[in-house]
Amino acid sequence: MEIYRCNRNCGCMRCRFRGIMWGVVFITGGILLLLETMGLPGMDTDRTWPILLIVIGVVLMLQRTASTEGHLQPGVSAPPFPMQPVPPASNTESTTTAIEVRHE
Ligand SMILES: [Zn+2]
Repeated sequence: MEIYRCNRNCGCMRCRFRGIMWGVVFITGGILLLLETMGLPGMDTDRTWPILLIVIGVVLMLQRTASTEGHLQPGVSAPPFPMQPVPPASNTESTTTAIEVRHE
């Protein structure tokens, strides 16, 4: 079993969750400050700051437990294009120029 190492160029779920921590922290903090500014009862930051800790914990849990299916270790290059089956060329007339020759 290979040890997981984060790769910024990888598209697996664990690598994606590695980069969301600061964004989630700022969004959550902004929402909490906005709710306080709106003057809703019980929404002052003295009481709501533990929500930030809960959100950080959820993100950390996602980072540790997310799937590594399709993970690429750093230094391993991805295929240049997604491997998809190529459909058979059934209509070749659209790509070729039809030349009509009349013999009179
Ligand atoms: Zn990955």
